[in-house]
Amino acid sequence: PEMAALVAGGTVDVLDFPKPGIVFKDLMPFFGDGPTFRKVIDGIVDHYGAGSFDVVAGVEARGFVMAAAIAYATGTGVVPVRKAGKLPRPAFSASYGLEYGEATLEVSEGAFVAGQRVLVVDDVLATGGTAGATMDLVEQAGGVIAGFTVLMELGFLDGRERLSPRKVHALLTV
Ligand code: 5GP
Repeated sequence: PEMAALVAGGTVDVLDFPKPGIVFKDLMPFFGDGPTFRKVIDGIVDHYGAGSFDVVAGVEARGFVMAAAIAYATGTGVVPVRKAGKLPRPAFSASYGLEYGEATLEVSEGAFVAGQRVLVVDDVLATGGTAGATMDLVEQAGGVIAGFTVLMELGFLDGRERLSPRKVHALLTV
């Protein structure tokens, strides 16, 4: 409940972004508030427990920010899940439908050691398209999903169904 309140307190609803009719949850105030950011990152680390994952996969771009902080706190590494065309070496690729539009994500072929336990992080879980594509990429690249963590889950979109039976941890569900 404390974590949920911290995330809620750092969120601003933006009407009609990126398209008319969409209410975008802008979490930048949360990221910009040092004490809150630290508490929430520490809360995520406590939730999983030290040693329960080997590497953190962050989804471009806000997931990178969270992934770096979690990885630093736990002495693990970061693997970027990137938008198409950004990775310099051969990559696995997965396309999916967004709440608004289409997208493709990529993970470098050699990103994981086989069997490495991967914590996937992003700011928001909406339809689950992004997280589902990330799951497919991590597994294709030889990783094992230790769990998903998001700051905010839009519960009415049922995004977590796509990820079942893998563990999904949301600090705030709206
Ligand atoms: P999904 O693929 O689950 O429909 O959408 C989740 C992805 O889109 C995440 O990478 C997330 O960053 C972005 N996203 C979708 N809706 C929102 C929103 O309202 N606020 C923020 N901050 N990101 C969103």
